[in-house]
Amino acid sequence: MKLIEVLAIVLVSLTVVSAQCPRIINRAGWGARSASTAVLPNRPAPWVVIHHTAGTACSTDAACAQQMRNIQAFHMDSNGWADIGYNWCVGENGAAYEGRGWGRQGAHAPGYNDRSMGICVIGTFTNSIPNQAARTATQSLISCGVSNNHISSSYWLIGHRQASATACPGDAFFNEIRNWSRFNPNP
Ligand SMILES: [Zn+2]
Repeated sequence: MKLIEVLAIVLVSLTVVSAQCPRIINRAGWGARSASTAVLPNRPAPWVVIHHTAGTACSTDAACAQQMRNIQAFHMDSNGWADIGYNWCVGENGAAYEGRGWGRQGAHAPGYNDRSMGICVIGTFTNSIPNQAARTATQSLISCGVSNNHISSSYWLIGHRQASATACPGDAFFNEIRNWSRFNPNP
């Protein structure tokens, strides 16, 4: 096989794999503080729990990285948690930010933490839904997790309010995710 053919195959393979994942910003990419938390015991995760941060939205890489640092500081310094609570956060810049990531148990929805991926969209979505970039990135992140066996292919998706007494992920966004694939109305 010629080198050019090998390169073509490698390129196609990479494209197929990456097509299922959004643009991902790892912890170093947003300036996370280091933290150690337990491995997620139930993998692939059978549940996906959707959140909003109930804070300020962001649509640039710099603003979203700043929001991630703010959320982590709040969770660690005010709540006394080991790390940012969410497994992943998504910004209206269309990027997915690694929180505890695929492999570590989150602190986001009691009763579901050991069996779910907690994904938040950065912002407050009571009266409006996240923009198209954030919605696409969130759904792409879930597909990415399924493709890589971090999330069960038969997963169920819920909003945080279905697990705890909270308005999260906001009325507007909750109504939106009720139309998403694998939404479970009666968890
Ligand atoms: Zn929440």
